[in-house]
Amino acid sequence: PQPSPQTGAAVKAADRAHVFHSWSAQELIDPLAVAGAEGSYFWDYDGRRYLDFSSGLVYTNIGYQHPKVVAAIQEQAARMTTFAPAFAVEARSEAARLIAERTPGDLDKIFFTNAGADAVEHALRMARLHTGRPKVLSAYRSYHGGTQQAVNLTGDPRRWASDSGTAGVVHFWAPFLYRSRFYAETEEQECARALEHLETTIAFEGPGTIAAIVLETIPGTAGIMTPPAGYLAGVRELCDKHGIVFVLDEVMAGFGRTGTWFAADLYDVVPDLMTFAKGVNSGYVPLGGVAISGEIAATFAERPYPGGLTYSGHPLACAAAVATINVMAEEGVVEHAARLGAEVVGPALRELAERHPSVGEVRGTGMFWALELVKDRETREPLVPYNATGQAATPMSAFAASAKAHGLWPFVNMNRTHVVPPCNITEAELKEGLAALDTALSVADEYTQ
Ligand code: PLP
Repeated sequence: PQPSPQTGAAVKAADRAHVFHSWSAQELIDPLAVAGAEGSYFWDYDGRRYLDFSSGLVYTNIGYQHPKVVAAIQEQAARMTTFAPAFAVEARSEAARLIAERTPGDLDKIFFTNAGADAVEHALRMARLHTGRPKVLSAYRSYHGGTQQAVNLTGDPRRWASDSGTAGVVHFWAPFLYRSRFYAETEEQECARALEHLETTIAFEGPGTIAAIVLETIPGTAGIMTPPAGYLAGVRELCDKHGIVFVLDEVMAGFGRTGTWFAADLYDVVPDLMTFAKGVNSGYVPLGGVAISGEIAATFAERPYPGGLTYSGHPLACAAAVATINVMAEEGVVEHAARLGAEVVGPALRELAERHPSVGEVRGTGMFWALELVKDRETREPLVPYNATGQAATPMSAFAASAKAHGLWPFVNMNRTHVVPPCNITEAELKEGLAALDTALSVADEYTQ
């Protein structure tokens, strides 16, 4: 830990006086004052260190303060900190090239945004203009961002306060066998019935009114539900049949998280538009974007695209993306995530599930795993109710408190904890975190029946 002239108490006092925090009741939160971070760890002003199994908000895919990326940001800052989006700028051109080389199929044009939500907004705008249709379909159990349309698409309670009724968004159920909406008992049944449900939804909404179907390739915050084989290919077919734009949101799943560059690579599916952010530069400088197919790019070849941002392709953010992608390639980060996911995390979590009655299901791939915590394995009743807060969420907050007391910073959402550390975490660090997780799960076990 680096010495700091500030005290944690002073940092926190200024925060409590002036910082208005996301998604929070302002008087009910107690943010930790963070003094520093490096690799897979961060620490507070009292020298307490935490292993970050949440990668911030699932974005530090190469950990904190990677020296090569920090140096690239410093070099870019010295050379050209910023430049307006209408110009051709080296860092922006190179970032677009490196991204387009990795995105699937012919997603070869990159529109840069500031983050994930505005990438989703622009993907919707492109789809609506390309098709001339008004509506968009998205899944329950999803998260697409906090701006108006992105939160309208979102299939979790964060949407409710911003539902306007005029958003033109229709929700459907994507496959999730463990909590099947389709009375399915096998992945094959779940896949077939989810596709049939989607097809019926399209028919009843009117195919000619639907601009886009938007899905997270693997839903992230909503629970890391890896789709059954054939589902995304089936959605692709439905989109082709009805002239609907297929948008995959890879803001969380992209850039190595799944042990592949993009989650779409796992399913051999090519969308028409793909959104990204987070891992593109490990979140060192805010950056997101939309990767655009040849056909949709052609729509805006002679006709101006009516959208833009002052900071579209900000050089500092793009230089961070160039350095991050190069580091990931040079250091084999994607392959590392795939290997440790398959050989260490998956087996370890399944072993924890055998010993801990609170673990209902383990699912995931790469460095992208969820543990579904339940009161009762037979009934699958969640350890806390859907959208529980305060007292009702005690079993999960007790679990999280135990993890933190043992030096592990967990990702917690509703009745789940996700194991989503940096993709370049070492095997020894993983084992340290899994041991703390084991201890914290014993606390969750106390709330089972
Ligand atoms: N899409 C997905 C799948 C996400 O996970 C997120 C954020 O977690 C977003 C969009 C929104 O991204 P941002 O918070 O960068 O606007």
